[in-house]
Amino acid sequence: MNMTVTSRLAAPASSSDAPGKTATPPAPRSVPQALLRGAMGCCPACGARGMFPRYLKVTPACAQCGEELYHHRADDAPPYATILVVGHVVVPLMVLVEELFSPPLGVHMALWLPLTLVLCLALLPLLKGMLVNLQWALRMHGFDPASVEYEPMAAAESAPQKAAARP
Ligand SMILES: [Zn+2]
Repeated sequence: MNMTVTSRLAAPASSSDAPGKTATPPAPRSVPQALLRGAMGCCPACGARGMFPRYLKVTPACAQCGEELYHHRADDAPPYATILVVGHVVVPLMVLVEELFSPPLGVHMALWLPLTLVLCLALLPLLKGMLVNLQWALRMHGFDPASVEYEPMAAAESAPQKAAARP
């Protein structure tokens, strides 16, 4: 049992194990291009808009080229990245304004609470798009068809819909 796990894990790295198999290497995927497209909510493969049919809902597949995007595992990484970025913008500004002008607490509240909210809401889809496209470019999770994590569209998408459709 241990041997099967080891050989299964080692299989993608050592293609020389199968001499008769002539597997063509997958086409390279540009990370900077994928990040740029993700920041604009565009498909990592073709650059067409429409990755988010709703605010943070990633489309299962690109309407233009059919690239499967449901393989992403963004999970809580986009909120984490958003908090990181917004914190590094708002906190220094807050300290700077306090040092320069020492305004009353009400002014701080009126400035930083709306700014934080607006920045978070604006950056969330941008960073989520970048993270989804980064996973695509690095062939993480099911984005690599040869991966054990690959799930066909039917298995990944229809099962929850069938369950939800049942009365
Ligand atoms: Zn596409």
